[in-house]
Amino acid sequence: MIEKIHQNCPHPFDTYLDRLTNNIIIFYDNQQKILEFNQGFKKAVNIPEEKLYNQTLENIFTGNSMELLSFPTKENYNKFNLELDQNITIKKVEKEYICHIFKLENYYCLIGEDTGSEGEEVLNKISKLNNELSSITRELSKKNMKLEKANQRIKELSRKDSLTDLYNRRAFMEYFEKQLAQSQRHQHRLSLIIADIDDFKKINDTYGHSAGDDVLESLGQLLNQETRKEDMAARVGGEEFAILLTKTDTTNACNYAERFRQKLKSIKLESIPETVTLSFGITAIRPDDDLDSLYKRSDEALYKAKEAGKDRIEIIE
Ligand code: GH3
Ligand code: MG
Ligand code: MG
Repeated sequence: MIEKIHQNCPHPFDTYLDRLTNNIIIFYDNQQKILEFNQGFKKAVNIPEEKLYNQTLENIFTGNSMELLSFPTKENYNKFNLELDQNITIKKVEKEYICHIFKLENYYCLIGEDTGSEGEEVLNKISKLNNELSSITRELSKKNMKLEKANQRIKELSRKDSLTDLYNRRAFMEYFEKQLAQSQRHQHRLSLIIADIDDFKKINDTYGHSAGDDVLESLGQLLNQETRKEDMAARVGGEEFAILLTKTDTTNACNYAERFRQKLKSIKLESIPETVTLSFGITAIRPDDDLDSLYKRSDEALYKAKEAGKDRIEIIE
């Protein structure tokens, strides 16, 4: 397009001017009618090309800018800012150009350089994206925390027995192993109680399996209430429980079991009319004990309690 007006220019120069898409180049006459323009201008105003020819500059630039355009003199050949008319430039309404105006024979040439507001736009977009990113990151970390909590809960549930809310056999054995090693290393006392419900089969047979379940649930609650944080109570079999008491000798373990036995007698369970009793076997750690020997001895004590008539405590030192 530019070569039409600037016949004398060598072709590559015209093409170069035409393709300067970040700069606007307009040729206009004394009446400020647009004669020719480059692609940069077309892109900036976003008006169909055919409508731009013979358009007056007034319709393109703001009033303030028009004062500068109206009387191009030698003095204002220098740089000044021009804003594109906001009513006309639908696309780049906020864009500003630093303009140079040259008087050539009987027409004028306006060359406008992008002031870099596009750069600002990009920076604004980047900062907006950054804000979005930090809010997404915050959301993500909240969700991760929730997930972490859910995972902990799942892990805890996998260590618990769902009926009694006591630890299960696997969790108990893991804890038992650790406590045994620690007690042996530091020469601390460690006592193990194994408790078994007396005549539980009869309870099931008389009141039904569901009533039996309720009894187990109540016993679980009671054991959880009565056990210190540093100790562990677990359901290790159908109606069999184990309680590991750290830094505790058999006398204190026996006190604990007796307290529990009495408490159970004093409680009226909702599920069955009669009281439930437990038999207890107690033993404490010996220097040469391993998991099996300690557990077996406690079990033997329990067997003795059953043999001796149930609802009682037997200790093997
Ligand atoms: P002992 O005094 O000698 O311990 O007699 P017992 O009847 O308690 O012992 P036995 O081993 O003969 O029977 C245990 C009963 O416990 C049999 C079984 O059905 C019942 N049981 C085991 N687990 C559950 C359970 O989860 N729910 C219910 N309701 N019953 C259970
Ligand atoms: Mg039993
Ligand atoms: Mg049993």
